[in-house]
Amino acid sequence: MFCPKCATQNTDDSNFCRNCGANLAPVGKTGHNIVTGIKPDKYAGFWIRAVSLLIDLFVLGILIIICGFSVGFIFGSFGGITFDIMEQIYTVVGALLCIFYETWMTVRFGQTIGKAITGIRVVTTHNEYVSYKLSVLRFLGKIVNLLTLCIGFLLAVFHYQKRGLHDMIANTKVVYVK
Ligand SMILES: [Zn+2]
Repeated sequence: MFCPKCATQNTDDSNFCRNCGANLAPVGKTGHNIVTGIKPDKYAGFWIRAVSLLIDLFVLGILIIICGFSVGFIFGSFGGITFDIMEQIYTVVGALLCIFYETWMTVRFGQTIGKAITGIRVVTTHNEYVSYKLSVLRFLGKIVNLLTLCIGFLLAVFHYQKRGLHDMIANTKVVYVK
């Protein structure tokens, strides 16, 4: 295909112009690029997502220990750190890591490590890449799910596209990759 900006010829499957870097990937209904390499109608169900979540919790657990320890070590070097303060440091570091891990990875890769291992990814209902705005909304939706006794997660079991409340809030779905 020819680049609409500089008319350089690129291969048909290129996402970016090799000359000017212009975005050549197909754009979906809401103006974001369409994700290729997925099975758009093969929705990831409750159990595969539960396994993916367990893997993510394990990864996050390790990250929180490493980062919490490092931050605690730095603060500890100032002296006079009580156990209560250490606990608060761990809580803050843990919360920030959870937010960053989930929202950033979903935007950057469309999947967390758990989703990558189980072969599933998040896209919008129009099969587009997930923006930061939607990714944060989706994360907030998960917190709402937790606060409502996980009813929002269980919705995914009954929904025809297996979307939980957090998916409905963010206009996303979780599908299998090819
Ligand atoms: Zn170009």
